[in-house]
Amino acid sequence: MAYFVNGNAFFKAARKGHFALGAYNTNNLEWTRAILQAAEETRTPVLIQVSMGAAKYMGGYKLVKDLVADEMDSMKISVPVILNLDHGDYEAAKECIALGYSSVMFDGHNLPVAENFDKTREIVRLAHEKGISVEAEIGKMGENQGAFNGELATVRDARAFADIGVDKLAACVGNIHGIYPANWPGLNFQRLRQIAAAIDTPLVLHGGSGIPKDQVCESIRCGIAKVNINTEFQQAFQRATRAYIEAGKDLDLTTKGYDPRKLLKPGTDAIVSAMKEMISWLGTPTIDELTAMELENQEIDRDDMPAYAQR
Ligand SMILES: [Zn+2]
Repeated sequence: MAYFVNGNAFFKAARKGHFALGAYNTNNLEWTRAILQAAEETRTPVLIQVSMGAAKYMGGYKLVKDLVADEMDSMKISVPVILNLDHGDYEAAKECIALGYSSVMFDGHNLPVAENFDKTREIVRLAHEKGISVEAEIGKMGENQGAFNGELATVRDARAFADIGVDKLAACVGNIHGIYPANWPGLNFQRLRQIAAAIDTPLVLHGGSGIPKDQVCESIRCGIAKVNINTEFQQAFQRATRAYIEAGKDLDLTTKGYDPRKLLKPGTDAIVSAMKEMISWLGTPTIDELTAMELENQEIDRDDMPAYAQR
């Protein structure tokens, strides 16, 4: 029976050992299968996550959890899987904790810092009662090709959030969600190093798609243990799907190229390839290598679903 792990031990080992695990966003059934397939074929543990928007699109947090767990069973996935809520608000984080996600990100960056701090502390309390991992965010991410400028996380906030026991911290250091503008000045390594020197908490790099490889590698050397990848896979899927259609393969009646199982396959395969490449350059170790490090992760039972029972 499928179960999820909270992954805390992997991220602590990553921070210490200067490697990272990718955090891969699912959007639908094909994405879910592609992410699990790439993890299984590379024998690496995987963090699969869903944003509030994608969960709404797919039919809700419970559906996402059931889909991932059922695919793990059906695909006979044998590597550890962490199921994470990406950028959850307070209510979404509480719902996913109740549903038995093994990890939640509570993103209170738009709240006044004091309120972000108080709500994060409450989410940490609720999650830790069940062995669930918590990611918090401080500073502000840039958005939409830099049109909305970000704000650097401060060392003081990093210390305060580490002290209340967050398991992973997304500290904004000039990174941007979505496509990076041509005049992007790059990551602020000075601030990243100051934060890493102040706390041991594994650090998270959001907006990992589109940051030049050398900067991602340098950030991993500085203490980044989790790199979020979303846009890159969306573009890999889009390019392969476009190539299939532009080649007219969807119009081929003899091979039934219009069949969604055929139409969506090149894009799905492209996600698998892109993820394997990402795993290799993040230096994500195989589960055998991680097991040799004697790490302990808490398992979260997939049937631990009190919220569902209450509906
Ligand atoms: Zn993000």
